[in-house]
Formats: sequence, structure tokens, C-alpha cells
Amino acid sequence: MSKLQCFQFPYGHDNYGVLVHDADTGQTACIDAGDAQAALAALEQQEWSLTHLLITHHHGDHTAGLTDIKSATGCLVIGPEPVSSPIAGIDRFVGDGSEFEFAGRRVRAIHTPGHTTDMINFHFPDDALVFTGDTLFSMGCGRLFEGDAAMMLKSINKLKVLPPETLVYCAHEYTATNARFALDVDPDNKALQERAREVTRLRANDEATVPSSLQQELATNPFLRTDDAGLRQSLGMVDADEVAVFAELRERRNQY
Ligand code: ZN
Ligand code: FE
Repeated sequence: MSKLQCFQFPYGHDNYGVLVHDADTGQTACIDAGDAQAALAALEQQEWSLTHLLITHHHGDHTAGLTDIKSATGCLVIGPEPVSSPIAGIDRFVGDGSEFEFAGRRVRAIHTPGHTTDMINFHFPDDALVFTGDTLFSMGCGRLFEGDAAMMLKSINKLKVLPPETLVYCAHEYTATNARFALDVDPDNKALQERAREVTRLRANDEATVPSSLQQELATNPFLRTDDAGLRQSLGMVDADEVAVFAELRERRNQY
């Protein structure tokens, strides 16, 4: 079994889509469908033909191109069970822990409600990849449109336990702002300072900061560090419960 190849492409203001390709079988999956033109151009550029389309959640910047991509390629569309707004064109629904096969390996759906209640993240355990949609960003997390802090913390805790070497592909390039915010609330974190410098350099060269590794996120992402003594100290919440710390971080980030 050869390693899957990932090709990340930008679209819209700050979105990323990703093509995941297996050279042995020729199968290709696309993560999210916000922009059909961008996805089809990426497929053409790589000379890959699409077999699977994996949808994380119902927001338009992740679904607007779904029907066009499906009709252009005839791909199988896999996406979340309709918890909140139903998505037209899904062939196969997945919920928490659902598994399906792609290119001879197992893909596991992880339900991570909070940003939306339907959010599904896709974990490829054999290839150490996870596609986190708008749940987990590099050094940040999604806004709570349909869920609350307790729900989102529980979702993020499902991602925290994946193997640390797992590559985290999130759906937006929000990293530079996230890094500035993270430094505000966790100023003494050396790993964060170093990552923030790397992000500044990457963005100055117009390069992507995504993917990161889970290990990197565990060390730098304040939303994964609600149990960290230094972060709690800087928030003045040494003895608060984790949900309260998470809620405070999310609220501060909303105002940031
Ligand atoms: Zn969204
Ligand atoms: Fe989004």
C-alpha cells in the first residue's frame, strides 16, 4: 500500500480544499465542495479523476459546488447525517464512528458538533491524516454557530486523542490571526512563540500554514490547552473547570 498523496488548493477568501489520491488504485477523494471550478481545476492539474467527495458540514463555503462536482465527475458523495440543515446530493450519510472504505483503507467519521451540529471530520488512520473542517483550525477552533462551549470542547477532545503525528488539514487559512490571539492568552509558551514566527514567515511568502501536526496543535493551540497551568494563569482562571476556560477563550477570540 503506497502512501496517499494530498494536494491542497485554495478557494474563496481563505478556504482550502484537499484532493487525496491513491496511486495504486487511482482513487481520488476531495474534501469539501465550496467551489466546483477550483476543485475541477485542481483535479485537471494533477490529472486525477474524482471518485469520492467528502463533505464536512452544510455551510455554503463547503457545499456550494457539490452538485456541479458530482455531475462533472460522477463521484460518490459522503457527508453528515442531516442534523441541522440537510445537504442536497449526499449519497451516503455518516455519523460518529461510521467507517467506509477508500482506496483499500478504512476512513472513520468523527462527529464534532459545535461550529455546526452536523460537522463530520474524516480520519484516515493508516495514513495519519485528519480533515477537521471548521472544528479545529491551526491554533484556533470554529465559531460556535450551532453549539455551545461544552459541545465543542467534547468534540475537540475526540481529536486530541488521535496519534500526535497525525497531520491536521483544516478548511481555512486563519492561522496568522489565530497565532496573534494565542500569543495574547498564552504569552510564555515557547512552542507557540516559535510557531508564530514560522507562520509570519510562511504568510510573508504567501505560503500555506496548513496542514499542521496534532502534536504541534497540542503544544500551541489554546483551545487544546484548557488544562494548561500557564494558560489558565494568564486568563486568571487557575481553578475554573475546562468548559469555563474554553468558553472564555472562545468569547475572547470572538471579540478579538
Ligand atoms: Zn463553516
Ligand atoms: Fe467554513
